[in-house]
Amino acid sequence: MGARNGFIETIGDTPLIRLQAASEATGCEIYGKAEFLNPGGSVKDRAAWWMVREAEKNGSLQPGGTVVEGTAGNTGIAIAHICNARGYSSVIYMPDNQSREKVEVLESLGAEVRVVPTVPYTNEMNYQKQADRFAQSLDGAVWVNQFDNTANRLAHYESTGPEIWEQTEGRVDAFVCAVGTGGTIAGVSNYLKEQRKEIQSVLLDCIGSALYNFITTGTATMSEGTSITEGIGNSRITDNLADAKIDWALQVSDQEAVSMVYKLLREEGWFFGSSTGVNVCGAVEVARKLGPGHTIVTALCDGGGKYLSSLFNKEWLAERGLFVN
Ligand code: PMP
Repeated sequence: MGARNGFIETIGDTPLIRLQAASEATGCEIYGKAEFLNPGGSVKDRAAWWMVREAEKNGSLQPGGTVVEGTAGNTGIAIAHICNARGYSSVIYMPDNQSREKVEVLESLGAEVRVVPTVPYTNEMNYQKQADRFAQSLDGAVWVNQFDNTANRLAHYESTGPEIWEQTEGRVDAFVCAVGTGGTIAGVSNYLKEQRKEIQSVLLDCIGSALYNFITTGTATMSEGTSITEGIGNSRITDNLADAKIDWALQVSDQEAVSMVYKLLREEGWFFGSSTGVNVCGAVEVARKLGPGHTIVTALCDGGGKYLSSLFNKEWLAERGLFVN
């Protein structure tokens, strides 16, 4: 019949979508991997399932246990769904600079949400460190640790990468992707380069993050400024990213990403979050650099529904000097 058996089996095997205007403008074939069509609504469903499954396999997560994570939101949403499907509880620590909608979705899913002040990773009150400490203090709890747990990138090495290779019939020339934990870019790039080592891997970074500098200079120093994007950018090199095979990096500004999100919405009917705007901008830039005739793949990370009060609120954008053209 081709039916999928329940929530877990619905994760992955997402369509590859040709982005029409981007392809026509560049003479390349630009495709987006439709990660927003995962059952929890984002690219993080795959990573969350691989990490929970790993905890089940190594015995740290037992029936009725609690899954704890620090997350900008999408990993938490994925974990909350998976915990419901597998009979676990979930406790999610989130920094207070994330959208209100993500907190509401998490609470609706039944997760216990703890919103904590946004402080750097080096501060002991950082949301990831609080999640770690809480898990250690609670019997039967596991800390997922998505940034340094390499079951995250394994998800993309074992599923997203092979799917892209098959769906493009091996014709992909470049994979272009913004980075949070690094799981997506590392897993996909490492898999694709094993198939054909010339395939280019391009890291996209937002402003106020250290990853562009890391790829271009080898040192993870933060770039000046801030970004409205959510789920991407980082101040440090995670275990998932550390030995990823990345060829070059590009920075994408918030204004470019916002304009792209609205262009995709108005001209092609898509409703995406800001990291997808970054990704499509990057894919277009890479297509221009490589020249016509190439095949570029990026990720369509999540939909716009969680960003109604931010990305899709024009006053909110204007207060931050961003406009919709
Ligand atoms: N886009 C969104 C919307 C995300 O939530 C995330 C995950 N934080 C990413 C992109 C980046 O994915 P990764 O963690 O695999 O680098």
